[in-house]
Amino acid sequence: NMKKSAIRELLKLTQRPEIISFAGGLPAPESFPIEQLKEISCEVLDQDGPAALQYSATEGVTELRQLLVDRYNEEGLNIELKNLVITTSSQQGLDLLAKIFINRGDKVICGLPSYLGGLSAFNSYGAEMIGIKFDEHGMRADILEEKLAKLKSEGIKPKFIYTIPDFQNPAGITMPEFRRKEIIEIARKYDILIIEDSPYREVRFEGQAQKTIFELDGNGQVILLGTFSKIFVPGFRIGWVVANEQIVDKFVTAKQTTDLCTPTLNQKIVHKYIEKGYFDINLKKIIQQYHEKRDNMLQAFRDHMPAGVEWTEPEGGLFLFLTLPEGMDAENLFQKAIENNVAFVLGKVFHCDGSGENTMRINFSFMPKEKTTEGVKRLAKAIREEMGIE
Ligand code: PMP
Repeated sequence: NMKKSAIRELLKLTQRPEIISFAGGLPAPESFPIEQLKEISCEVLDQDGPAALQYSATEGVTELRQLLVDRYNEEGLNIELKNLVITTSSQQGLDLLAKIFINRGDKVICGLPSYLGGLSAFNSYGAEMIGIKFDEHGMRADILEEKLAKLKSEGIKPKFIYTIPDFQNPAGITMPEFRRKEIIEIARKYDILIIEDSPYREVRFEGQAQKTIFELDGNGQVILLGTFSKIFVPGFRIGWVVANEQIVDKFVTAKQTTDLCTPTLNQKIVHKYIEKGYFDINLKKIIQQYHEKRDNMLQAFRDHMPAGVEWTEPEGGLFLFLTLPEGMDAENLFQKAIENNVAFVLGKVFHCDGSGENTMRINFSFMPKEKTTEGVKRLAKAIREEMGIE
């Protein structure tokens, strides 16, 4: 069932140096704390070298797990060490959850749209995805309820509901608390787990931070995934899963056959990076940088996009979502955009039912501001050409 990721294939096209690419989901390289990491790496190797270079527990290095547990509890969650496992980033979390829960032909509920890497992970274990349409608050609760009722009448119970509630990849939408509660209520009524995949949660520029679905549930029905990829560096491949004890137990068993443990050295370096206070200081800088980049992109959109094109204005994260007038196909536009030396990702690839032909995902974290403005001009030109208005 495995398919080559459409995004990876398209990204190859967009790597030509003359292309301004809004396609990838890459953090800004200028946010990487290279000097601090040199210092901390030496410290860890000097002070704790043999342990740092050794295998470690599948659950993860205890001091890092404890630190994450403490930070969550300060935020209002009520978890213990036994509820949190370190992963080789969130993608592994998604893959292992699929490995544990999905038997071929099982149904999984996801948003229209949803993160492609999640869909691919579930697909590769034989899941059949059922997409639920979005409104401006994310997954629509009324459609979810209708769908689950229909499935129940057919004797079908989906394995879980996959959600990305904060600054969603790809739509940039954040679920407000009332919608989170509606989804929890429905999940309870139909006795279905919720996967809360939240890599962008900490990257909030403005507005009110939302409680996690995990906290609002408080009942063990939610599995929360986090990662350092967007708030530290993706190259370390460190993330985590928070869940009830039985799920953690299965998760650890599944992880053992995958990689035995997440690299110990990386875990120890991240731990020290947080402990020394660098993490919190640098996160503020990342938020500031991306905030400016988002504002710059939105301004360029307002200045250059033709009438009829709409976009989301995310309060955080790395992406916004652009909708072309009904009937326009972003796939035709993609070719024109490449000719104009600008790239994006087709929104269609995030829709498990093949819809979203007139949508596209735009990343604003990677490109420097001047290039972003130029890229938006090129994109607007390609759109106008495709609309036949220039
Ligand atoms: N989930 C979502 C919603 C994502 O956008 C991404 C990365 N773009 C991931 C998971 C995977 O992130 P990582 O494996 O780097 O933690």
